[in-house]
Amino acid sequence: MTDLKTIAKSHRGTRVTLILIAILTGATVIGQAYFFVTIVDRVFLRGHTFQEILPFLGGLLVVLAARAALTYWSGITGVKLAAKVKRDFRIALLQKFSNSPVQASLKGQSGQKVSVMMDAVDEIDPYFSRYVPQVMQSSIIPIMILIAAFSQHVNTGLIILITAPFIPIFMIVVGLKTKKKSEEQMDKLNAFSGTFLDTLQGLTTLKLFGRSAKQQKTIENSSLSFRDATMEVLRIAFLSSLMLEFISMLAIGLIALEVGLQLVVFENVTFFTAFFVLVLAPEFYLYLKELGSAFHTGRGSMGAAKKVTDELAEEENPIEWGDASFQKVHGPPALQLNNLGFRYGDQGFTIENISVDIPPYTQLALIGRSGAGKSTLLNLMAGLIRPSEGEVLVDGKPLYEYEEKTWFDQVSYISQNPYLFSGTIADNIAIGGKAEATQEEIRDAAEKAGILSLIESLPEGFETKIGEGGRGLSGGEKQRLALARAFLKKPSVILFDEPTTGLDLQTERILQASMKELAKTSTVITVAHRLHTIKQADTILLLDSGRLVAQGKHDELVEAVPAYREMVSVQQGGSAG
Ligand code: ATP
Ligand code: MG
Repeated sequence: MTDLKTIAKSHRGTRVTLILIAILTGATVIGQAYFFVTIVDRVFLRGHTFQEILPFLGGLLVVLAARAALTYWSGITGVKLAAKVKRDFRIALLQKFSNSPVQASLKGQSGQKVSVMMDAVDEIDPYFSRYVPQVMQSSIIPIMILIAAFSQHVNTGLIILITAPFIPIFMIVVGLKTKKKSEEQMDKLNAFSGTFLDTLQGLTTLKLFGRSAKQQKTIENSSLSFRDATMEVLRIAFLSSLMLEFISMLAIGLIALEVGLQLVVFENVTFFTAFFVLVLAPEFYLYLKELGSAFHTGRGSMGAAKKVTDELAEEENPIEWGDASFQKVHGPPALQLNNLGFRYGDQGFTIENISVDIPPYTQLALIGRSGAGKSTLLNLMAGLIRPSEGEVLVDGKPLYEYEEKTWFDQVSYISQNPYLFSGTIADNIAIGGKAEATQEEIRDAAEKAGILSLIESLPEGFETKIGEGGRGLSGGEKQRLALARAFLKKPSVILFDEPTTGLDLQTERILQASMKELAKTSTVITVAHRLHTIKQADTILLLDSGRLVAQGKHDELVEAVPAYREMVSVQQGGSAG
């Protein structure tokens, strides 16, 4: 997909249909003028009876009906084309976003970006639903009218031929003048919505710092300047359409004057001819003018299309998965981190040289200061980001040789900030399951995750709407919801970025029991903050600044590693062990 013209051309069937519709419409325009003029001519000048003109009246009716039908058909064809193109764009965008979900979400604002892009796709609509059909009509119908005019009266044909170019020329001149203005207006709109969104999102913070009044002023200013820019564009737009009307009126007046003189003074044209060209001339200019307004909407779409194609062209270097599957139905796979390394961007934080063996059913605890790289290492193990060095081996084979789905079917990842999609609590838990989950199973999973009592305290229980547009949940609650997903899924590898926040004793106990149960059937890798989890672990990895500084069991580490002793003593003071 490059630009809109190429896309429009690639839909050949639709183009042919549109051309056919334009030719037929041209025929009805001319036919309508013919029947109308004939009827007037015969009734008023030749004194024909109603009976005699009946066939012409019938013809006029048919032509009018056909013209209406063609307009409808053309509209439908344009809308269908637009729908097809928009669908293609959306699929391309979604594919792109979902091929690199983590890259995009690590950069932040992925949801916002997706929604902005999807809106941009909508703005492409008028190009195909209005502009493309109009271009067909405006390039075919005027020529047909011109030929009809020439065939009847050469002078009229010549006048049309000479005046017609003024309309596109004028449109180009005005277009060039307004282009800059409307770009300015778009910029102002963007600035305005940006300020507005920022302010809304940061309202709490702004209030806390006593800045909301000042921010109000900023919004007011940017909205005023947007208004001024809009008025300026509108002024030019109105002025230019006035000028266009003026040019076409002048041309039609010229034609009227000419045929009038020919008819009355020189008496060398018939009334039929004179009236016929006079009826056709406005139609000619009408189609030219409509091209102008369609062009403006079309150009708006081109801007949006550029935004989308740019996004599609931007390289994200997605992770490529292989097609291997797991050999047999077995317990957890053996994991190995083999000299694993990773770097954010060119200069960012690095993980270096991490080598660990994780046999099946291991309970591994990752510990370290905030910012030590624990979540990053977990992302690497989950296969969500690609290591820049070394590899994660799963049953001896590099992770990316497996088929994506095969791997993710094995894994549950409870991140620090699990994603809730908008829907009910039950829906949100149910996506964990491989098959359709029953209410019973969902309830059971919620109970094991220690979130049942909370859900039951809500008036709508499992049917409570959460996520975008619904009730919010606290960070810890979201994590327990994600944990409930894991209970439904029964994965063989669990990656758990434990909440840093303390839990109440009751919930803590439920969680401990549940994790113990999960550990029976899976390898559990936890970013651990609670001493209990750390003590339970078969292996503890102590990270510092992206490096593995110690590895072993609790007792060994307490003995041998002062840094570990220090960390644990802090933890001991912090939460119940
Ligand atoms: P915490 O205990 O606070 O969750 P952590 O050990 O999980 O910390 P990470 O989230 O792995 O820490 O982050 C490690 C380092 O990488 C931090 O310095 C962080 O600023 C940086 N970092 C994290 N995400 C990104 C990103 N998307 N782009 C660039 N740098 C990042
Ligand atoms: Mg973290």
